[in-house]
Amino acid sequence: MALRNLVIEGDPLLRKKSRPVDEITPRIIKLLDDLADTMYYENRGIGIAAPQVGVLRRVFIVDIGDDHGKIEFINPEIIEMSGSQVGSEGCLSVPGKTCEVDRPDHIKVKALDRDGNEFVLEADDLLARCICHENDHLDGILFIDKSVDGKVYRVEEDDDDDEEEE
Ligand code: ZN
Repeated sequence: MALRNLVIEGDPLLRKKSRPVDEITPRIIKLLDDLADTMYYENRGIGIAAPQVGVLRRVFIVDIGDDHGKIEFINPEIIEMSGSQVGSEGCLSVPGKTCEVDRPDHIKVKALDRDGNEFVLEADDLLARCICHENDHLDGILFIDKSVDGKVYRVEEDDDDDEEEE
């Protein structure tokens, strides 16, 4: 198990555009494993993207606790989106803040898995929200940029509500 340090809002790395993965090397596999370790260690994490651990590659993982379990995405591309849902988001890289964000409520995303096989996944609701949030990280976009009312709220760091962070 290997944890990586989280990059926190204010660090310019979070604002950079990540590069595609051109070859799935052992380093990329290790990155995927470390992302999972780091996300599960941060026990409210339901998604994490490579730039959040300082690696500017188009890689992220999500696990919203549904039947899909953990899903790994390499070079993801959202190829369809429809509908709209407004809901509150949080982010492991933006601790203590939340706001309401408008996301599509249905998406189709294409990506490579760790074996280099292309897959297409259809996602709704929270899974669609989470994938859109993580995909934004690859382009240097944070959820607080997209607040529907322009407001960002503070949340208690150590309260026991089940705010999820991505
Ligand atoms: Zn995030």
